[in-house]
Amino acid sequence: MGALPKRKVSRLRRDRRRAHYLRLDKPSLLHCAKCGKPHLSHHVCPHCGTYKGRQVIEIKEKKKNE
Ligand SMILES: [Zn+2]
Repeated sequence: MGALPKRKVSRLRRDRRRAHYLRLDKPSLLHCAKCGKPHLSHHVCPHCGTYKGRQVIEIKEKKKNE
């Protein structure tokens, strides 16, 4: 006795299950409207900190003098 599935999963059942998550694509990259650099869609741009043209987070730049 072990942690094994009780019955063989049919091809149909297996493939149906996989269809659910294999549908998920790699996260698509968009180009930022502000800085033009690639960023994940539906995510704040990590380069300039804007999302849909709005400043959402502040990017701390490596500047010693301001
Ligand atoms: Zn940006």
